[in-house]
Amino acid sequence: MGQGRRDTGRGRIPGVTEAERRAALEAIAAEVRDCTRCRLHATRTNAVPGEGDPSTEVVFIGEGPGQNEDLEGRPFVGRAGGLLVNLLGHIGWTRQDVFITNIVKCRPPGNRDPEPDEVAACAPYLHRQLEALDPAVIVTLGRHSMGRFMPGARISQAHGTTAPVDPATGAHDSTVFAMYHPAAALRTTSIERESYEDVARIPTVLIESRDRRNANRLARREAALAAAAATAATSPIGPVAAGPDAHGDPDDQLTFF
Ligand code: URA
Ligand code: SF4
Repeated sequence: MGQGRRDTGRGRIPGVTEAERRAALEAIAAEVRDCTRCRLHATRTNAVPGEGDPSTEVVFIGEGPGQNEDLEGRPFVGRAGGLLVNLLGHIGWTRQDVFITNIVKCRPPGNRDPEPDEVAACAPYLHRQLEALDPAVIVTLGRHSMGRFMPGARISQAHGTTAPVDPATGAHDSTVFAMYHPAAALRTTSIERESYEDVARIPTVLIESRDRRNANRLARREAALAAAAATAATSPIGPVAAGPDAHGDPDDQLTFF
């Protein structure tokens, strides 16, 4: 458990416990480990489903496993991962505080770019992970990941900026924040500096997204109550309770300092 999160002992979605969320993520991971949906399965050592806190508000998405990740079956454990951990440390977070995964779950041989058909074959897994996690913020690492959430954006312009996430991605009410890939930051000092500047914005982005989600939740709740009152006014069986808020309470949140 990272030092940053208050653990309330329940998931962020009432009716969905942390244990259920963990089980949903583990079921997806088990499918990924056995997956043969694209040619990358043939050359992998281990698939890399992703890992982290099932109740986190923030998901980091890279491109695909490299050699170390393929050998260990875990995301961002090589040099790029070392820099990612340092970037998280810059805002007082650890990798256990967030969830870390990739666009494709198996290593493209020789670290080539994933092919469009491989990205498409793997997309349902990320979609399901985002449905289960319901993150407030999605941080994309590099162009390939950004392309899924900010179609048409250029990384040199878009890094350090946010956009609303299309719910068709699986994340029903989220904000995307684009960053350079840590491997690019390892190659170029100016990109490394900009990455530290970018990561420092994430706490503010999270607070803003959390506020927006809470406001949306309240609006849904009020609409449900109004609908229930309208039904009660006309129903011969009298008032019915408004349904439970399907999208969680603000009680299980990352803190910063
Ligand atoms: N690069 C990525 O995009 N993902 C990893 O997991 C490791 C390196
Ligand atoms: Fe399956 Fe994705 Fe691995 Fe392809 S990259 S084999 S779709 S898990």
